[in-house]
Amino acid sequence: MKVNFLDLKAQYLSIKAEIDEAILAVLNKSAFAAGPFVKSFETNFAQRQGAKFCVGVNNGTAALHAAMMALNIGPGDEVIVPANTFFATPEAVSLSGATPVFVDCESRYYNIDPNKIEGAITKKTRAIIAVHLYGQPAQADEVKKISDKHGLLLIEDCAQSHLAELNGRPTGTFGVCGCFSFYPGKNLGAYGEGGAVITNDETLYNKLMMIRDHGSAKKYYHDLIGHNYRLEGLQGAILDVKLRHLDAWTETRRRNADAYRRELAECSEIVVPEEMAGAKHVYHLFVIRSKQRDALQKYLQENEVYTGIHYPIPCHLQKAYASLNYARGAFPVSEAYADEILSLPMSEMLKEEEIAFTAKTIKAFFAK
Ligand SMILES: *Cc1c(COP(=O)(O)O)cnc(C)c1O
Repeated sequence: MKVNFLDLKAQYLSIKAEIDEAILAVLNKSAFAAGPFVKSFETNFAQRQGAKFCVGVNNGTAALHAAMMALNIGPGDEVIVPANTFFATPEAVSLSGATPVFVDCESRYYNIDPNKIEGAITKKTRAIIAVHLYGQPAQADEVKKISDKHGLLLIEDCAQSHLAELNGRPTGTFGVCGCFSFYPGKNLGAYGEGGAVITNDETLYNKLMMIRDHGSAKKYYHDLIGHNYRLEGLQGAILDVKLRHLDAWTETRRRNADAYRRELAECSEIVVPEEMAGAKHVYHLFVIRSKQRDALQKYLQENEVYTGIHYPIPCHLQKAYASLNYARGAFPVSEAYADEILSLPMSEMLKEEEIAFTAKTIKAFFAK
């Protein structure tokens, strides 16, 4: 049996009629850059994520960068980010001219360790970015207390946490804004690139709307320096269709995670992900740990089970950040995990028998 890491084609075929109709509607209206289809998606996404406003942009990195620009974060400023995240999180900080300051993750849930944040705060610190990695909410309530205490902004990177909640509250609504990615492989994915910022702050919303459109609220009148960060009409229409399925898909991901945990319960050689108390994890990724990660991944691949590593090199050790002079050993938890983590196949299209086969293959590896 072949088990794909994810199967975008299968997902498309499951909603083909609705998608095809939506695409034709955009073509017929020729509303390609922002416009009514984007507006409709923004309204629906804001509502489902429990926020007043949503600005669609053209990818998740743009969402983070636009947030930096709108909040006047720039040269001379520092922004605290987890060492264990996708590179785009610190990259957006660097794009703004500010400096990312890394903090290690805690040992159980892979997210930023609130106990280590205060040690990284300096006079230059302006903001903290909490990343809800793998779909598990970070301890956003704890991080918010710290950011409030020090007069800092809390920004949330929700690129992997669509519909995730902490104590009943959606991620993206704890801080000043939440930044989403709709990269095709994300829990809510465009057929191309997409992203969004949600916020309850109307002033920030208006500024973000201008930033995505060359700093302009009225065509050809430019009040500030922005960017071309508009979301495409086609992507807006596609995302609007997919959003209608996202609750059901999220429940399937959560059931798949339970099935993995059941199937792998007796496999003491690996650590399976746990759900933090009060958290609704949406399993963008199902990340296990093994001391024999590389050999296990190779064995799975030989048996046509395709896995991933998110991420093999923590951000502070990336070449691009050599100038920041972080040494190996600076963040022991993130560094140790980078050698042990393995993302198993996970999506709403994953079938029971594929989960069973993956688990069986993992157990066979350790029985060798
Ligand atoms: C995917 C991702 C991003 C960037 O989103 P793009 O749409 O690829 O630009 C940022 N942060 C995290 C945690 C991500 O997973």
